[in-house]
Amino acid sequence: MIATNNTRGLYHRLQVANKLLKRSHDKDEKIALSNYMWDLYHSMEQVSSREINASEKKIFGSHKNYQKLMRRFNLYKLKMLENLVKYKGFHSDFLRDILDVVEDDTSELDDREFADTSILSEGDFYTIFFDFMKKYHLEKLFDEFVKEKRIYKVVADYDNTLGFILFNPVNQDIDIFVKDFFYNIYSLFVLAHESGHAYDFIHFDGDISAYNHYYYQSFYVETISKLFERIFLDYLFQNHILGDEVNDLLAEMEMNNYDYLLSSYVLSLLDDELLINEKYSTLSHQELINRIKKYFISEEAIGFYIQDDIHFDVWADFNYTYGNVLSLYLKEPVEEEGFDNAMMNDFLKERGRLFTPAFLEKWDITPSGYQEKHSRDMKILKK
Ligand SMILES: [Zn+2]
Repeated sequence: MIATNNTRGLYHRLQVANKLLKRSHDKDEKIALSNYMWDLYHSMEQVSSREINASEKKIFGSHKNYQKLMRRFNLYKLKMLENLVKYKGFHSDFLRDILDVVEDDTSELDDREFADTSILSEGDFYTIFFDFMKKYHLEKLFDEFVKEKRIYKVVADYDNTLGFILFNPVNQDIDIFVKDFFYNIYSLFVLAHESGHAYDFIHFDGDISAYNHYYYQSFYVETISKLFERIFLDYLFQNHILGDEVNDLLAEMEMNNYDYLLSSYVLSLLDDELLINEKYSTLSHQELINRIKKYFISEEAIGFYIQDDIHFDVWADFNYTYGNVLSLYLKEPVEEEGFDNAMMNDFLKERGRLFTPAFLEKWDITPSGYQEKHSRDMKILKK
């Protein structure tokens, strides 16, 4: 079995993390471990579909400790929001131009007919993923996940994420969670995405302060995971594996990317004060429209941008948006030279920093450059 729903391994992780936390005197370590333990509890709930009573006291030692940690998290968040406000003008110009160039490509995807999903044998599922990882010399990592039963089946309908990963930055423990795991292309795709996070995190080499900054403040956390999505789909396409389904998945990926681009763009148009205090989430649909209508030619045009069910989350929206953009650029050197290439090495070195436009300028990342690469990819879709 490639995926398990036995939570024993997770319970063990929890005990190990708790010991590390009790021994630690490092502020960054404590933050990372506490957050990891909190997530572990919730992952156990999702794997077993049973409620687990995890009190703040149980995880953080005392309510006071919990409050101290929350203050710290809020500081990270504030830094991220201040950074967003600082470059708001840049984001709105950049994202509007990217939206313009992908609009035509993406609008055609809406009325696409999707192929049926094939059910693979366990052996074929394993081989497809193993061979993909082998192409990038990462097959050992995947084998470790399987042999040590680190891939979990998530059954609870918790939220709309397809999967997630838990990483203990102090001892490098990793577990991968795939929602509705099944031997099909969707679970393969989620596995590729989460393997990207695994690759990313293990390359922090124990610098926990940098890891925390990266994880809570930057807009780059979804870059390598999105890169893995892209190189995995290309791998399947080039090897004629699951042909039509690969096209469908690429189409779905593009539509998702587009939604995140829209949300990020709308956020970049809001007033500083709304962003810093995160008041945007309490605005009604109409209030939201009123706030940004000066940027559009008509209310009709805004209606397209702000759907009734729009939900904003700065962290997720900006991470997926810039992850999408950066991964499109990282894909070429990785496919040509493997992971050890100049752009990738630079990314790994710089990713813990806060967002700056210079980060994009350095690699000549522009809306027109994005368009060129994007339309090349989209041509594959037109069957
Ligand atoms: Zn992710």
